[in-house]
Formats: sequence, C-alpha cells, structure tokens
Amino acid sequence: MMRHMTSAEASRLPYQQVADVLETDIVRGLSVHEAELRRKNHGANEFEISNDDPLWKKYLRQFKEPLNLLLLCSAAISLLMKQFDDAISISAAIIIVVTVAFVQEYRSEKSLEALTKLVPPKCHCIRDGTLETFLARDLVPGDIVILNVGDRVPADLRLFEANDLSIDESSFTGEPEPVLKSSDTTNPSVNAIVHLTNLAFMGTLVRCGNGKGIVIGTGENSEFGEVFKMMESEEAPKTPLQKSMGVLGKQLSFYSFCIIGFIMLCGWLQGRAILDMFTIGVSLAVAAIPEGLPIVVTVTLAIGVMRMAKKEAIVKKLPIVETLGCVNVICSDKTGTLTKNEMTATHLYTSGGQVLEVSGVGYNSTGEIMLDHAAIRAHTNRSIQKLIEVGVICNNAHISGGQLQGQPTEGALLAVAMKANLDKVRYEYERVHEWPFNSDTKYMVVKCTPLYDQTTHVFFMKGSLEAVLRLCSKFLTSAGTEEALLPRHEQQFKQQAVDMGSSGLRVLALAYGPHETSMVFVGLVGIIDPPREGVREAIMLLQHSGVRVKMLTGDAEETALSIGHKLGLYATDREAMSGDQIEQYDVERLSNLIDHISVFYRVSPRHKLKIVKALQKKGHVVGMTGDGVNDAVALKSADIGISMGTTGTDVSKEAADMILVDDNFATILSAIEEGKGIFYNIRNFVSFQLSTSIAALTLITLSTIMQLPNPLNAMQILWINIIMDGPPAQSLGVEPVDHDVLKQPPRSSKERIITKSLLINVIVSAAFIVAGTLWIFWKELSDGKITRRDTTMTFTCFVFFDMFNALACRSQTKSVFTIGLLSNKMFLLAVCGSLIGQLLVIYAPPLQVIFQTEGLYLFDFIFLIMLTSSVFVVSEIRKFVEQTFQRRREKEEMMNSQRIENYV
Ligand code: ADP
Ligand code: MG
Repeated sequence: MMRHMTSAEASRLPYQQVADVLETDIVRGLSVHEAELRRKNHGANEFEISNDDPLWKKYLRQFKEPLNLLLLCSAAISLLMKQFDDAISISAAIIIVVTVAFVQEYRSEKSLEALTKLVPPKCHCIRDGTLETFLARDLVPGDIVILNVGDRVPADLRLFEANDLSIDESSFTGEPEPVLKSSDTTNPSVNAIVHLTNLAFMGTLVRCGNGKGIVIGTGENSEFGEVFKMMESEEAPKTPLQKSMGVLGKQLSFYSFCIIGFIMLCGWLQGRAILDMFTIGVSLAVAAIPEGLPIVVTVTLAIGVMRMAKKEAIVKKLPIVETLGCVNVICSDKTGTLTKNEMTATHLYTSGGQVLEVSGVGYNSTGEIMLDHAAIRAHTNRSIQKLIEVGVICNNAHISGGQLQGQPTEGALLAVAMKANLDKVRYEYERVHEWPFNSDTKYMVVKCTPLYDQTTHVFFMKGSLEAVLRLCSKFLTSAGTEEALLPRHEQQFKQQAVDMGSSGLRVLALAYGPHETSMVFVGLVGIIDPPREGVREAIMLLQHSGVRVKMLTGDAEETALSIGHKLGLYATDREAMSGDQIEQYDVERLSNLIDHISVFYRVSPRHKLKIVKALQKKGHVVGMTGDGVNDAVALKSADIGISMGTTGTDVSKEAADMILVDDNFATILSAIEEGKGIFYNIRNFVSFQLSTSIAALTLITLSTIMQLPNPLNAMQILWINIIMDGPPAQSLGVEPVDHDVLKQPPRSSKERIITKSLLINVIVSAAFIVAGTLWIFWKELSDGKITRRDTTMTFTCFVFFDMFNALACRSQTKSVFTIGLLSNKMFLLAVCGSLIGQLLVIYAPPLQVIFQTEGLYLFDFIFLIMLTSSVFVVSEIRKFVEQTFQRRREKEEMMNSQRIENYV
C-alpha cells in the first residue's frame, strides 16, 4: 500500500521522491493494472453531492405553502363542524394540488441536475508508457498527467515539468492574475497553499504554456475539494424570466387576496354561511394565484435545454435560453470554429526563393514534396531540408497511426517532415527550454542542444511572419549559406506571404539561430484549413434572420479575407480591421465604426474582448464563438459565449455558456430557433393562466355582487386550478417550435413577456368565459332554485371554455389550423386527459359525491361546445385580421424601400 501524502509534503520533496512515495514512474506512468487497483481503493476522482432531503420530506414540504395550510385549516374546520363530505373533498383536493406541485418541482429539479452532467471533463495521462485521453474521473494518485494550454487541471498535481506554465486559479483564490508554475521544490517555510508553485490544483485552468505532473490528490482529497462541492451544489441563478414571473405571481396574489377579501366581506354582509365563504375564498386563492408560474417557467426552460441538448447544443445556464432569442450579432473565431482545424501544409517557400507544393492530406506520410510538379527528395537540398527541420524541432505534436496528439498547426508541419522522411531529426536535439506559442506574441521558440555537440545551443522558431522577421538578421540562401537580411529581402518574403494568404492559406514563418535575437530566416509554410461544411449556409440564414456575423482571427489579412469570402462574409478592405487599428481606438470610437466591419484580422485576445465590449456598447446582444484559450476572455464577456465540444479547449468550455457538441456552427441556428420558440411558449401559457385566473375571480365576484348563489363550489374551483396549473398549461410550454420564428428578427432584450396586446387578448378571452358561464348559470337558475344540475352545467361550461381557450393560446399570432391541430402531442394528451377527467367527475358516482355533480344529457354537451367554442372562434378571427394587416404592412414597406432604392 502506497503512502498518503499531503500537498505541502509533495511540494517540499523533490519530484523524484514524490514519484517514489507514490510508487510511480514519471516516464512510463502507472501500469493499467495498477491504475485499476488504485481506482478501487481510492474511488472516482469526483464529488458526491449528497442530495440532502429524502423525497417524502420534499413532498411534505409542499404542505407548508401558506395556501395549502389554509386549505388544511378549512378541512379541519369542516371536520369540527361535522361536515364530513366537505372535509373529505377538501382533503382529496389538497392531496391532488400538492401532488401536482410536487411532481412539477421534482421534474424541474431533475432536469436542472442533468444539466450539470452534460460535459464531463477529460484528461491526458500517461499509462504503460503511452499517452491516453480519458475521463478525468478515472484518474488515480500516481498517474502522470500532461497539461497543455487550455486544459482544466484534472486533479491535484505535483509538477515535474513546466514550460512557461501559468495557471488561472481565480475561481478559488479570486486572484485574477494567472500564477507562473515551476517544478522546483518549494521552501519548507512557505505555508500558504497558493504559494506552493510546483503544484497544480484540480479545477484550475492552464492559461499558457505546458507541463507534466504526478497526481497527488483526487476527488474529495483535492485541496479545493470543499470549495468545489460548494460551487457544484450552488443553486443556479434565477433567469430574468423566472424573476419577472416571481414578481408577476406576487402582484397577482396581492390583487387576488384583495378581491377574495372583498368577496368574503360581501358574502358575510349578505348573511351567507361563513365556513362556506371561507372554503370558497381559500379555493379561489389556490386557483387564482398562479403559484405554479415560476415553476412552469423553469420546467419549460429546462425542457428546452434538454431539447437543445438533443440537437447537440448544450446550454450550461438557464438564463442563456432566453438570451438566445435576442442575439443580433455573432462574433466568431475563425480557426477551429468556421474552419475545420484540420491543417495540411500545401505550400513551402524557402528563403532561397524556391516555391514547392506538397501533396497528400491527413496526418500521415503519404504525399510528395514537388518542385514544378515533379517530386523531389528534400534532403538533397539544404535550404528545403532546413525549413522542414525547423518545423519538426520547434514542435510538440505527435502523430501515431494517423492520429494527431497536439495542435493541428504543428501536426501539419510534422506531416510534411514525414513525407520528406525528415521527422527523425527532432531526436538529434535535446530541448533545454521552450517559450510556448501564445496568441499575443504569435510565435514559439525552443532552445536545444544538439546531441553531437553538447556544448552549444541552437534556437528554433516558428510563428507569424511579422513576429519571426522581427528577430531575424540573416536568411538562408538556396546555396545553403547565411546572408544578411536586407529590407528588399523582407519585402520579397512579405509579398510571398501575401500571395499564399490570398488563396486562403495560413502562413507560418520559420527560423533558427545561435541566439534568439539573431535568427536566420529559412522560409514559409502555407497551411490549408478548409471551411467547415454548412457554415456558409448557416451564416446566410443567420444574416437573413437579422443576426450579423463577424469573423475574428489571428491570421493575416489576406488569409482572413479569402476565407471570409468563401464563407459569404464579403468584405472589402474597408470592411476589415486589424488588431493594430483596434489598438488605436478606444471602445467608444470603435463602437461607432464597428457596425460596418465584418472581418477582424491579426487580433489578439485583448482585441477580441474590445470588439465584444464595443458591440455591447452599441446596444447589441453579442454571441461569441471560439475554441481556444485566446477566445476565453471574450467568451466570458459576451452575452452568450459558445464553445466547441470536441475540438474546444477546456478553458473555452469553462468560459462559455453554451457548447456545440458536434462543433457544428449551424447548430447555433437551431439553438436560436429553440430559444425564440421557448419565449413564445412561455408567453402562451402565461396568457392562458392569466385569462383563466381572471375569469375565475371575476365570475365569483360578479355572482356575489349580483347576490346569486355560488356558481362553482370549492371542489370545482380546485379542479379548475389543476387544469390551469397542471398538464394543459405545461403542455403549452412544449409546443414545437414554429420554423417561421427564425425568419423573425431577434427580439429586443427589453421586450417584456406581458405586452399591452397580450393583456387585451387575455381580457377579451376572460370576458367571453365569464359572460358565457354566467349566462348558463343564470339560465339554469331561472327555475328558481339551485340544483346539482345547475352547478354541473356551469362548472362544465367553464372547463370547456378553458379548453378552447388553451387551444387558442397555442399561438398568439397564428391560426391553430396553420400550426396544425395535432402538432403538439402533449397538448392533445393533456386536453383529452382533462376532458376524460371532466366526464368522470360528472358521471362516476364517488366523484359525483365529492364534486356535487350529476350526469348531463348529450344535448347539453352539444350546446355547451357550441357556446364555449366562441372563445376560440373569436381568437381565430382576430389572428386572421391581424395577419392580413401585417402582410399588407409588409408589402407596403417593401414597396417603399424599393421606391427609395430606385430614387437613390
Ligand atoms: P486564430 O485566432 O485564427 O485561432 P491563432 O491565434 O491560432 O489564430 O494564430 C495566429 C497566427 O499565429 C497564425 O497565423 C500563425 O502564423 C501563428 N501560429 C498559429 N499557431 C502557431 C503555433 N503552434 N506555433 C507558432 N505559430 C503559430
Ligand atoms: Mg481558434
């Protein structure tokens, strides 16, 4: 059994000793067998979030709601007064109401929980001498983990290699600056955990550089485990919609209570039985107060999120669903997002002036280096050979069996070397130091000692042409000699880079030298990175729906414009802007210019952030897509940050709000569509609930004022409540998304759920329901005394009205026949269920007792259906008229704009 070891201990011991204590080998890692054993002993590298309360407790908690308590009270009072019928009915009702509420809350909780499990973190680990990628939860102490820029540290590590490795620990320490790590043993006097710079902590993010480490703590044994647990169990923040629904619910409760108070007062003055009035009042409160509103909103949002997940878009936080419908600008990183990030070097240019082509695709050795269409042997020419050599030595990628481990750009260089049979030269040098690539400097340098002469050093460098030329003082001629680099040579190289870039190639410059400031330029490599399929179409559709797309890239102007052109982002050089230009403007100035710019080139992470800020300043709602560490800051500050699931770095996924699992840009379209649809669905059931609520309250108020008996008894009111808060309302929330919503422009982020026109519709529907129901009641009462038949007719009338109202609420603008009478299966099911329920309530003897109903005649039903469908017919007529006007207005607008165009 290996010895346990604390972070502080591990930090103070030399790493070799740490490896010994943990019985591991830093080169070969653990054996697969040993790892399995340890996995059994140590458990998974994750946290058990104990889900506090058992179900029955949660169920009982529902009874603590004030309204349910009141209902319980009235049941108890009925019992005391020996009115057992009432007591049983009310108890049954309470159980139903509570169960509906409980099931809804449970569902919303479950679906929110599922959200957190959608993107499990991965890690790169060496076992049995081979590099493997697997889920971070399978790591055990003693495993050897490789960290690359963009990774999330998968467990607590004692680093034994660190190249320019900086780690962002801000999520735990709050310190925004990344910490520079090293593999050196720390001083025993240092105590604070954060000063143990040779440790990398689980859950922190690699911002820069790379490194290797031994796993010393996993899961609950990790340093920040406790903090982690707290963060994971933290409740999701309320979305603006949830908040506004909460407020709406409170307002409605307040008004309802006032009205109910008024009704009870009137009833008391009129000398009605107090207990009756009390039960009616409380049931009315339960029914009219849309206490379920925030929950239905949550469930609808969560179901929407699940629907998006099925379409390969994972939304990490609920509020994003709402924002999705408001996005009107999407900024997209080019490499890896709009393009495939499958890099293939197709052109070489040596500093000696030779232009070569490379054939073959993929990360393998199939292909040829060609000069004037004839294959040549690279190692026969010193300048070609040197160009390829620099590319493999200044390289961290590995290719085995056609699979690439590492950055695609480096993989492309490695593939060229394999084709030229020069890939083994990297083993002739021992690396002493590395300055890893980052998007600010745009270059990477390594310092090596040649194995044949261990006393000297050579530097190898690759990066953007500007970055490399800045450090070069010489260049290699075709004869293989070094010559001074003059401005006219630089001019020539730059021209060559422009030529390569214009055909859409990414250009990399290469150099070597005895000192990092006096390098010898050896040439350029042109790398093709084809656009992803479907991106062009997606961009078109987005632009048609009023979402503008802007491309951001670290590549050169020509490459950016060429790819932009291929993707339908037509930009002349007036519509493109460079990072240097962005540097000169402040956010204010930039926001005034930014609308016309669609391509940004040679930008660094800072600039991406500035672009997002400038757009937001202009009042735009910005979506930003990106996959690299260089995109993280911008992803975070955008209204919606979108990262790529398979190729994206952990850092970008952490910063993002949404992840496209299949890396498909077009998925954004479905997500936006879904987001817009959800908003309309929520609007629909809010309008349904509001109109029922208003109708029920008004009905009872009017009949009380008119000194009529109560048209609905307490049980019947509670039944109506179930229909209102239960399945029929919920099913309005899962209405399939109408594809036309995509054609509509993004919604203003200030637009409210309840608009004036919605309120008018609600009031009109409620008026119909009240008038119709009262009329039936009055007609039935005309024989002078109130019978079971009278209330049954009234009750059924109200329920039928409500069903037709729900049908009308399926869309605020479109005819139900246009969206399809049968297109929402859940709705059909809910309505049929409610109707069957209603029939049972009327005909089943035990229920007849509870609800105080009696059977109706067939003719009654026909009559009621004819009457109650009026609420539906009226809404259809309204929609028809509105649509006709809308169309006419659109036509006029089009003609007007054409006239203006002609005039211009
Ligand atoms: P993007 O924003 O499009 O993802 P990058 O920041 O990845 O662009 O790259 C910008 C430039 O940096 C490229 O045009 C290339 O010249 C250079 N570059 C890219 N990757 C590397 C690398 N691994 N090593 C050295 N230079 C690189
Ligand atoms: Mg990128």
